[in-house]
Amino acid sequence: MTRDDTIEAISDQSMVWDCLVIGGGATGLGTALEATSRGYRVLLVERHDFSKATSSRSTKLVHGGVRYLEQGNIALVKEALQERGLLLRNAPHLSHPLQFVIPAYHYWQMPFYGVGLKIYDRLAGKLSLGKSRVLSRQKTVELLPNVEQNGLKGGILYLDGQFDDARLAIALLRTLIALGGHAANYVEAAALTKTGEKISGAVLRDTETGQEHTVRAKVVINATGIFSDSIRLFDDPSVQKIIAVAQGSHLVLPPKFLQSKSALMVPKTSDGRVLFAIPWHDRLVVGTTDFGVPKPVEEPRIQKHEIEFILSEAGKYLAQDPTADDVLACYSGLRPLVKHGSGTSTAKLSRSHTVLVSASGLVTITGGKWTTYRHMGEDCINHVEQVAGIDHRPSGTKELALHGATKNPEVFTAPEHLAAYGSDRAEVESRARADPALAERIHPALPYMTAEADWAIENEMARTVEDILARRTRSLLLDATAASEAAPKVAQLLANKLGRDRVWITEQIKEFQTLTENYKL
Ligand SMILES: Cc1cc2nc3c(=O)[nH]c(=O)nc-3n(C[C@H](O)[C@H](O)[C@H](O)COP(=O)(O)OP(=O)(O)OC[C@H]3O[C@@H](n4cnc5c(N)ncnc54)[C@H](O)[C@@H]3O)c2cc1C
Repeated sequence: MTRDDTIEAISDQSMVWDCLVIGGGATGLGTALEATSRGYRVLLVERHDFSKATSSRSTKLVHGGVRYLEQGNIALVKEALQERGLLLRNAPHLSHPLQFVIPAYHYWQMPFYGVGLKIYDRLAGKLSLGKSRVLSRQKTVELLPNVEQNGLKGGILYLDGQFDDARLAIALLRTLIALGGHAANYVEAAALTKTGEKISGAVLRDTETGQEHTVRAKVVINATGIFSDSIRLFDDPSVQKIIAVAQGSHLVLPPKFLQSKSALMVPKTSDGRVLFAIPWHDRLVVGTTDFGVPKPVEEPRIQKHEIEFILSEAGKYLAQDPTADDVLACYSGLRPLVKHGSGTSTAKLSRSHTVLVSASGLVTITGGKWTTYRHMGEDCINHVEQVAGIDHRPSGTKELALHGATKNPEVFTAPEHLAAYGSDRAEVESRARADPALAERIHPALPYMTAEADWAIENEMARTVEDILARRTRSLLLDATAASEAAPKVAQLLANKLGRDRVWITEQIKEFQTLTENYKL
């Protein structure tokens, strides 16, 4: 199914959808997939691209959250550890276990964090990834050769998961479509419609053509993350806002700063948070920060104080201090947190999810984490069944292998970006073998072949240069300058496939190159 097929289905006036899901991030995609897997007729619309907002800007951890354990949120940690286990099983091409090492500079830290991590191991139950253990100084240095050795006493090792957020979003999309669901990017919910007091659908605007369609739905689900209040206001202009927005940023460095397959975890930074330095796609991702911002925006920008904080904290734990000149890219995301009263620091607001049903039947699902997207979807659709007064149908997503999932060991011998295609890997590579132009890299400093962009246009609803360079490939996060330079080539490819003209190409290049400035220091 292509985007055009979904647009055609949207314009079918006789159609009554069981669920209309607004928002194509982790929450919307997870919820739409849950509903589709239960046999409901589902339409998902995303006003930009899938995972454009928060869901492509995470720390890329599938984790229980060691920090939440420290905060005593055992229920959230347990839920997330269970979901971590399910995701690693259902999407082995996009997620994998990763070793984390906490360097200890005081002897007391080893038993202190060691005991906490034993509890973490226990909470994972049967889905544990392996036992945590205390490390000698020598073993710590062996695992993290470039850790700061001055004053180092030893370390603690534990296991958690890592994933590719935007690629997982596409795997969810493709699984949803394979099960008969409908979805389209660049379609905005512009208003909600009501019959009497009850919501009966929405006005959808195709942002590529400007065309509007009114669709009917038994239940409308608001999964718009940081933008949740805007949809709630469509429903009831007097409603109290519930979303607090908290920014978190990351710096992307060359891998030499850690030179390790293990990640480094700092359990307590100078502002009392955790900091990660994580190997990802042959780069080192360092972050994150957490501070409240007044309102949601689509393109948050890293602040000077965040850059200084991340560089200075990383410098304390790495043998070589990174500087701003070393940074290949930076990115910022906004967490959708649910307010309970006022005056709480955003770092302390709960990361658990919330489902709200309004008097008119609008179902809002928000909060949570990428790791818990499946459980959030399950919980939301359980509420939807109650709202719609239909018999409960059991969830099928616990055991559902996501698009591309494979047990073929051959797939995992490829570099990370190709292994991420899972069972599609052979097809992507065969394009490159068949056409030398597609075998070329999109840029010498990036690992991606032109065949991957070609594949994304045909199979993954990529519509713009940004879709390809920011999310289908992760070029923008790996090297913002190289991504900017790759824009003309990708724009031309898109134009050839989608039938766009010169003017469109010029605009696309300009738009994307302007955007890349946000990702450079
Ligand atoms: C810095 C940072 C690090 C994080 N790290 C991790 C991590 O390592 N592991 C983890 O598990 N979680 C992590 N998270 C949390 C996780 O990323 C979020 O919980 C999750 O991505 C939220 O997804 P969402 O779908 O609710 O929101 P979003 O991804 O923001 O999706 C909402 C979508 O709704 C769309 N939309 C809005 N209005 C409309 C409209 N009118 N019509 C149509 N579409 C609309 C938007 O365009 C957007 O794409 C992190 C978050 C941040 C900010």
